[in-house]
Amino acid sequence: MKKFKTIAVGIAIFLFATNCFAQQKTENIIVITTDGFRWQEVFGGMDSSIANNHKFNQGDSTFIFKKYWAETPEERRKKLLPFVWSTIVSKGQIYGNRNLGSKVNVTNPYWFSYPGYSEIFCGHVDTAINSNDYKNNPNTTLLTFLNHQPKFKNRIAAFAAWSAFDRILNKPDCGFPVTSAFDKTGGQNPSAKENLINKMLEDSYRPWDDDECLDVFTQYEAMEYLQKRKPKVLYIAYGETDDWAHGGHYKDYLEAAHHFDKWVKDIWNYVQSQPQYKNKTSLFITVDHGRGTGDEWTSHGSKIEGSNQIWFAVMGPDTPAKGEVKTPTQIFQKQFAQTIASLLGLQFTAEHPVANAISAIKK
Ligand SMILES: [Zn+2]
Repeated sequence: MKKFKTIAVGIAIFLFATNCFAQQKTENIIVITTDGFRWQEVFGGMDSSIANNHKFNQGDSTFIFKKYWAETPEERRKKLLPFVWSTIVSKGQIYGNRNLGSKVNVTNPYWFSYPGYSEIFCGHVDTAINSNDYKNNPNTTLLTFLNHQPKFKNRIAAFAAWSAFDRILNKPDCGFPVTSAFDKTGGQNPSAKENLINKMLEDSYRPWDDDECLDVFTQYEAMEYLQKRKPKVLYIAYGETDDWAHGGHYKDYLEAAHHFDKWVKDIWNYVQSQPQYKNKTSLFITVDHGRGTGDEWTSHGSKIEGSNQIWFAVMGPDTPAKGEVKTPTQIFQKQFAQTIASLLGLQFTAEHPVANAISAIKK
């Protein structure tokens, strides 16, 4: 009997230890941003007052009403972002629906891109970063921190439509590849697919001159890298949602958001089809800033009310499936860096303070 007890206690300890060990499942992380995409469309779908305004609908409200209109916000958002409102809402968590009291805000006082991305990746506000033309980011980002961890070294890559990411992520010193705007993809040894992407990129329409490419190129570059090089940490930064909004093109803005949703689906389906990634990969999706409302939807910055309001979504094996968060919460952008680190079982430390992780996103 005594022997049996000893064995039973042994088994219990073993099970307890295995359980503790099993709590950390995320081995890979994919971070995705779509620049300045409003929480209003994420949670409510197409805004009919903007869509009906001839200043913004590019003379084609029939097209967007047919494609994205429905009576309720729940139906509309599902038409605009079908993957977010099917798979992510059933398996992950989505924050930022202010109509339900779920608030997410940027902490920095500027409410535009470089300060926002720096806040996301540094977990900290550096108020000296007050321009999109700011020099190379002097603050250590989470991605650089991860590149110093043996598990992640040389397993990190970033793809961005906007060339400013060279400075935001400190391309000269960060130690991992940053492919932005019209950079060629594939390095010294491009695959046939990468060669084709490079040729098409060179010949593509440049609505924003050399500053930014169309998102479709960033997506295909990142997907090819994911399939060929199997990174453990991948960052993808789309830009069209912000650019079309600045131009007052609501139709193009909605289409860019719809593409973004489709590409997240493509990424997730690929990840879940590969043994290296399946049920070992977390997805973190957010934005750098919000935008105004009414006629001010096109703009953002500290003078545009509400453009400090953002949203985020997370899905993966360590995140409880709470869906759309409906309880009053206040979360800040500076918490994302430590939250992403915590999904990987790490504590992000840097020369600057790092804000706390969001505890609810981890089991
Ligand atoms: Zn902008």
